[in-house]
Order: sequence, then structure tokens, then C-alpha cells
Amino acid sequence: MSYEKSVELYNEACDLIVGGVNSPSRSFKGVGGGTPVFMKEGRGAHLFDEDNNRYIDYLGAYGPIITGHGHPHIAEAINEAARTGTLLGTPTKWENVFSKKLKDAVPSLEKVRFVNSGTEAVMTTIRVARAYTGKHKIIKFEGCYHGHSDLVLVAAGSGPSTLGSPDSAGVTPNIAAEVITVPFNDIDSFREAIDRWGDETAAVLIEPIVGNFGLVEPEPGYLEEIKKLTHESDSLLIFDEVITAFRFTYGAAQNMLQVEPDMTAMGKIIGGGLPIGAYGGRVDVMEQVAPLGPAYQAGTMSGNPASMRAGIACLEVLEKDGVYDTLDRLGERLETGLLEQAEKYSIPVTINRLKGMFTIYFTDETVKDYKGAERSNSERFSIFFKEMLDRGVHLAPSKYEAWFLTTEHSNEDIEDTLEASDQAFAALSS
Ligand code: PLP
Repeated sequence: MSYEKSVELYNEACDLIVGGVNSPSRSFKGVGGGTPVFMKEGRGAHLFDEDNNRYIDYLGAYGPIITGHGHPHIAEAINEAARTGTLLGTPTKWENVFSKKLKDAVPSLEKVRFVNSGTEAVMTTIRVARAYTGKHKIIKFEGCYHGHSDLVLVAAGSGPSTLGSPDSAGVTPNIAAEVITVPFNDIDSFREAIDRWGDETAAVLIEPIVGNFGLVEPEPGYLEEIKKLTHESDSLLIFDEVITAFRFTYGAAQNMLQVEPDMTAMGKIIGGGLPIGAYGGRVDVMEQVAPLGPAYQAGTMSGNPASMRAGIACLEVLEKDGVYDTLDRLGERLETGLLEQAEKYSIPVTINRLKGMFTIYFTDETVKDYKGAERSNSERFSIFFKEMLDRGVHLAPSKYEAWFLTTEHSNEDIEDTLEASDQAFAALSS
């Protein structure tokens, strides 16, 4: 496979754009370096690069693309918005239509607000929780990613009873001192943190099903206990469903898990491929937000007709019968095939999968927290990633990411993927 044009474009981009990419996860730093592939077009389940190579796409643009690229129903909605005004600066009926659709699918969203990214959505839920409770600290979970606002770029302290430290230059120690980070799926650590800090904690922020150290589900009863302890300390429970909303079911992970938070942050899929974020929850909590309440949040682009109409169109595709069953069936076929091949070539792997999303960890241990994901063999993943890329299968360039299936992946795509992975595993074993 030749990447000549991508190399040329990347060199040019490095002169123009910091690091050559507009989001660090797009660089190949997580797989030992190299040139990120410059794509020209996405069509259905496939990507086409500037050198005219074709790839089966499992990156899914890091989650939003669940209906494939250029879906005709969504394209039509975006075209219509382009013709009639992408940004009017006034309320439009599309915001009502979309809010109603979200609320029908996720009942805990008694009131919502649209913003422009998952980062904004999560950032604002924290502000609102602080306004509501009058408290300042947040408790979050190791390895979960909640966007790039200051408060959530804080690494774990040395234990649940210690405060965090900045995870990025530019985040001040004062901000880090507002954050406690505990391991996921470890209720004792959480209990210790809430015992120590509950009186000062405004919110507990969690990905109910983790998508940022691969895919990790909560152990039975874990979220129920988190909710109980959170409420006992008069703190609010926030679910970050930026990845999980509409990924596994028509609704959010909270519908499947039957645990309702006080507030939810969403993004990715609900924009149908355009920029979006949304947050919502209990009406008494949401009424803290301006213009009704004292917590300020605004946005020139928020609720714009293009994102609204793309999001509505995307949900219209997803609400059709059988969508998630198909994603599950394709996911299962891939999982089984990959596990069989790993065994054939004696490469230890663990796969965590839910419906059309899964992560392959190069380890033989069960992965249920960040430390477990960290132990997945990075070198093996990097080789596997590059072997797959060279055979026309585009995965996310990091061992901590997931594979995302779309409604456009076909049986043939899956079989072609398995043919590539057979050779990738063979390369790993040689
Ligand atoms: N929350 C979660 C769980 C995410 O995975 C992400 C992004 O990957 C975000 C928040 C931030 O969303 P955005 O990149 O749209 O700002």
C-alpha cells in the first residue's frame, strides 16, 4: 500500500498545524509513530485516502458515525439546512423536535440544553451541579475521559483519599485539588472517597459503560451502589454518555442498565456527524441554568439547525427495527473470528464487546479497570494496527480505543476484515 500523498500532506500539515493534526488522538503517537492517513472521502462503511487506498472503517470517527458515511437520509437533512440557513441566531422548531425525540428515548432528560461538543456538555454539568449543591469537588474514575476542560484533565492521586494532580500543563494545582479520582469497578475505593470527601462533593461523574480505556462494563450492582452513596452525601450523579448514548440501544446506557442519573452529558452520535453536545436531567437541577437560574452557559452555534436536523435524521435511522440486533450480529461474528485466530496463533487476547462496539486487548486477563487496560501489550497492538492498516482495515491508533461498527458494514466487510486479521495475527506470531 502506498501512502505517498498522505506523507506529503502530513509534512505540509506539520508546518501549518500544531503536530499536523487538529486532535492529538489522530496522530500515530499511540502506535509508535508514523504518518496518519489523510482521507479524501467516506462512503458507507469505507474510507478512501488521498492515494486512493480503500479501508474498512472501524474508527467511526471515534464514535459518532454509527450510520456510516454520507448516509442519504442524513445528507438530505444537512442539505436542506444548508439551503435554508445553517445558523439563524434565533430559536427554531428543530430544537423542540430534537429535544422531544431525545426525551422520549431517554426519560431522565426532563429538560435539556444543546451545546457544541461533548467537552462543553460535561463541563457544564459540573458547573450546574456546583450551582445546585453549593459544593465544589467532583469525584471521577480513573481512565475515563470527559473532554478537555480543566477539571477533567486531572490525574488520580495516590489513593481515593488523596486529591488529584494536573494531567496537562496549564491546569492549575488549585483546580486539581477539586478532583478526586478513583478506580472504576472498585466500590470500596469509591466508598472511601465519599466518606472522606462527600461533604464537599458536588458531583460524581462517570461513564456508565466505559469507552475510553477500551470498552468496560460496570460490574453488577456497581452503578446502583454509586448512585446510593452519591445521594447519601447530597451530591449529584452525572453520567457521561457522550460515547454510549444511542450506541447500544435506541436510548442511552442508563436505559439498559436501569440506573438513572441526575444529569446526563451526550454528544457524538446525536449529531449525525455534525458538531454537537447536549446535557440534561432533573428539572429542578436544570433550572439552575441561565436564563432561569444563576449558572451561566451560552453558545453562538448551540442548537444550530444543521446539527439539529442531522441529529434528528440520525435518530430516525436508528429507531428502525433491528438496527442494534444487526450491529450485535456483526460484532459477534468479528469477536468470534478474532478470538479463534488469536488462539490459532497463540496470541493472548481478551475482547470486551457490547453490540457493535468492542476492544481487543493483548492480554489474557479480564479487563475491568484502567490498570487492566494499561497492561494490554502496546507493542503487539501497534504491530497489529499497522498490519491491519496495510491490509485496508482502519482501526483507531491506540490500544485504549474501541472498534465501532456501523449500520453500513456488510457480511462481506466482516469476512474481509477477518482475512486481514488472520494475516495480522500471523505476523505477530512470527
Ligand atoms: N466524554 C466522553 C466519554 C468522550 O469519549 C469524549 C470524547 O471522546 C468527550 C466526553 C468529549 O467530547 P468532544 O470530543 O466532543 O468534546
